[in-house]
Amino acid sequence: MSATAACATRHDWSLAEVKALFEQPFNDLIFQAQGVHRQHFDANRVQVSTLLSIKTGACPEDCKYCPQSGHYNTGLEKEKLMEVQKVLEAAAEAKAIGSTRFCMGAAWKHPSAKDMPYVLKMVEGVKALGLETCMTLGKLDQEQTRALAAAGLDYYNHNLDTSPEFYGSIITTRTYADRLETLSHVRESGMKICSGGILGMGESLNDRAGLLIQLANLPEHPESVPINMLVKVKGTPLADEQDVDPFDFIRMLAVARIMMPKSHVRLSAGREQMNEQMQALAFLAGANSIFYGEKLLTTGNPQADKDMLLFKRLGIQPEAREEHDDEVHQAAIEQALVEQRDSKLFYNAAL
Ligand code: SF4
Repeated sequence: MSATAACATRHDWSLAEVKALFEQPFNDLIFQAQGVHRQHFDANRVQVSTLLSIKTGACPEDCKYCPQSGHYNTGLEKEKLMEVQKVLEAAAEAKAIGSTRFCMGAAWKHPSAKDMPYVLKMVEGVKALGLETCMTLGKLDQEQTRALAAAGLDYYNHNLDTSPEFYGSIITTRTYADRLETLSHVRESGMKICSGGILGMGESLNDRAGLLIQLANLPEHPESVPINMLVKVKGTPLADEQDVDPFDFIRMLAVARIMMPKSHVRLSAGREQMNEQMQALAFLAGANSIFYGEKLLTTGNPQADKDMLLFKRLGIQPEAREEHDDEVHQAAIEQALVEQRDSKLFYNAAL
């Protein structure tokens, strides 16, 4: 299949087609993905987000990969919902070090009526700082998605995690249908969707293909597709899973890029375990978004200055936020990134 033919935005992918993409020789797959990527994006720009855990641990869900689940003893220090002011201070720091999007994550089954006013204030405050806003708060109903959209939330993250077939082996406290319903409320409210999954949980190739089919065959592709590598945390049921072959991880990014040509494909959790060569391959395969900063929810993230050094060596520039895609703003971001050398501990959700 030529890159052009593969590039059309489609919502009717079949398992056989997607498996055929995965099973191509590695070089052919990467070449095709890079061709698709260049039709929609500047291949030398990567979007940069910062993630803050606004409420940590004691989650009632039983996601087998997650150190925040209250079902497993991982030694994680629980924290209640952060104060709005502290969140805004963290957002201001994220902006100062060059992030264009600020993502706030809470380990909840769903936000309660009591917590919603605080969450809405956080969205309004972060937005007022001139950052794009993103949240991940668990399951949402229609009223909640509308309230979040009205407060200025740009993106809502809600991952499908894996294929519908494998899902029940990983999570039993929330159904796949629940997840799809939340995504449809998010879309209906006008917000953008961030949704992806995790590799390394013991899933098969069919499951990896099945996850991408679910995402790509939604009525609209998620604007952001995080592809995570399992971070094996002691105390979780998946702590002893086998490592994913790094080339299989890159294949996943490449197939995601081909199937969802206009989406940002995010190289997400697990990046700390990847060497620079693998990260460079990930960008070549079409990944064009990363989390930047010291910590990714409760697991480690490579140091910010290391990231910037890698960008510099690869000739990659950070992408400006959509609403201010002008030269002045871009120059300010680049300046902030170049000057960021003291790598001040940003936020350690695990402390
Ligand atoms: S992944 Fe989210 S919903 Fe699942 S246990 Fe962790 S915090 Fe809770």
